[in-house]
Amino acid sequence: MNPQHPGGRRVLCVIGYPIGHSVSPAMQNAAIRALGLSLTYLAFQVHPRRLGDAIRGAAALGIAGMNVTIPHKSAVLRYLDSVSPRARALCSVNTICFGDGGAHGDSTDGPGFLASLRDEGVDPAGGRAVLIGAGGSARAVAHALLEAGSSAVTVAARDAGRRADALAALAPTDRGGRLRGCSTEPGDLRPHVAEADMVVNCTPLGMSPRADAMPPIQVEWLRPEAVVCDLIYNPPTTLLLERARARGCRTIDGRGMLVHQGALSLAMWTGFAAPVDTMREALDQQLGV
Ligand code: NAP
Repeated sequence: MNPQHPGGRRVLCVIGYPIGHSVSPAMQNAAIRALGLSLTYLAFQVHPRRLGDAIRGAAALGIAGMNVTIPHKSAVLRYLDSVSPRARALCSVNTICFGDGGAHGDSTDGPGFLASLRDEGVDPAGGRAVLIGAGGSARAVAHALLEAGSSAVTVAARDAGRRADALAALAPTDRGGRLRGCSTEPGDLRPHVAEADMVVNCTPLGMSPRADAMPPIQVEWLRPEAVVCDLIYNPPTTLLLERARARGCRTIDGRGMLVHQGALSLAMWTGFAAPVDTMREALDQQLGV
């Protein structure tokens, strides 16, 4: 036991701004109960100006672990004592472990996405993927797909600067020139989508309360054999997934990634394999599914 924290490190938390929408406390506390651990998982709203104070305060209070969500995933890196190579490459941290060595950051988003594919029996190795969006989640998914052996990963985004930044960050992971960029203009994007084995929506387009929105692709461009994934988990069936299903495509929603990234965080903090089925039930209850 750490002598500075004689009561042990009993608190886990998530920080974000805003944070009221977070489903992580319900998921994580359900897992903690199922494992019979003496831990509590709380949510804290942290203003971007107080981010450094929050990290230093959490370390001083003996908090065991922290999830980090929008908008702090990149900004938090400068307040950490060490960062995993993966999180450094992505410039994104969603999990912090506090210990004697200080605050250590990692990202479980990409591995969480791959685990959600595995649940559905989908192996991305050798396949061509198109990601819509070039933000934090797109970088995490692209990194994971490159590591998992995808033969081509195309990052499609409307903002050329953001796309270039994402491609530059991912370049060291790209052995063999598998990474490409394209705009979201139909003329540019359509040929990539038409030959894709997997298309992943990494934008917030279609998320509640704007559930009538579509990312900038037409489902008629998709091969019916393609797998279509949406990182959005609320609603579980987005308009994109509904239309892709009608096209004959297999679809995977964002709940699996959310559960697995949380399960991987909990395993990092506690050393226990997290009960993903319990977490999934708690999530569905929160979402009213
Ligand atoms: P982000 O860093 O803000 O990136 C969002 C991306 O979407 C950017 O490339 C942005 O382009 C693009 N975009 C936004 N509005 C657009 C529009 N109208 N037309 C075209 N592109 C648009 O966000 P993120 O962290 O990657 O998250 C993206 C989504 O993934 C969110 O819905 C989030 O909830 C979800 N997510 C889910 C999980 C999970 O576990 N299931 C994990 C992480 C994220 P610009 O740069 O041009 O604005």
